[in-house]
Amino acid sequence: MTEQEKIELRDRILAVQERIARAAEQAGRDPKEITLVAASKMNDAERVRAAIAAGITVCGENRVQELLEKYEQNAYEGADLQFIGTLQTNKVKYLIGKISLIQSVGSVHLGEAIAKEAAKRGVRQDILLEVNIGREQAKSGLLLEELDEAIARLSEKESLHIRGLMAIPPIADETTKNLSYFHEMRQVFVDILTKKYDNVNMDCLSMGMTNDFETAIACGANMVRIGTAIFGARPYQIVSP
Ligand SMILES: *Cc1c(COP(=O)(O)O)cnc(C)c1O
Repeated sequence: MTEQEKIELRDRILAVQERIARAAEQAGRDPKEITLVAASKMNDAERVRAAIAAGITVCGENRVQELLEKYEQNAYEGADLQFIGTLQTNKVKYLIGKISLIQSVGSVHLGEAIAKEAAKRGVRQDILLEVNIGREQAKSGLLLEELDEAIARLSEKESLHIRGLMAIPPIADETTKNLSYFHEMRQVFVDILTKKYDNVNMDCLSMGMTNDFETAIACGANMVRIGTAIFGARPYQIVSP
């Protein structure tokens, strides 16, 4: 990275932090309540390190192989590392011990695999349950009607700690910015909170990405996962003319 690229990265991070703070204040909330997770996929160890040097405190990766490679290169030193992508049960073993939170637990089956691996290592793994709020065929995640049973079953696992919910709604529409989905998520989050399950702490409501994070914050998100606005467009996002 050139010095100029580092300055640009720092400026983008500051701009995102400021937008988060403004959105929080507009919603009458303390900006400190909102955790910014830098979605660092496809950015190499050097860029991740530069982002951490510029103030990023949490990184989220969504491919196990890529995470392991960058982990070996000490990319995440000084930051908290989380997993936010689709996870196959046979890859869980590579993550336990390296990540603080698995945000993308979209099935009881996956939750059970994580519980088993965590128990084997004698640790308690924090997880978020991923909700397929847009009911999209191609997306993983629990449907709303499956959520209660998933919580009941996974909260029995002593090696798991359910810390909240995560959602990736459909690609944000420019005008509504997923407002109705975010509202619905907030409602579900509060419902679970009031049910006071044992072994469940509804601390995190993770929703909002580059195109819609301000709307998500307005609707109660306290964790946003942002890639493009921090690192710039990923190679496959750059459309050639
Ligand atoms: C890439 C990614 C993000 C961030 O997306 P941007 O639109 O680039 O901000 C958030 N969450 C998940 C799960 C991702 O894979």
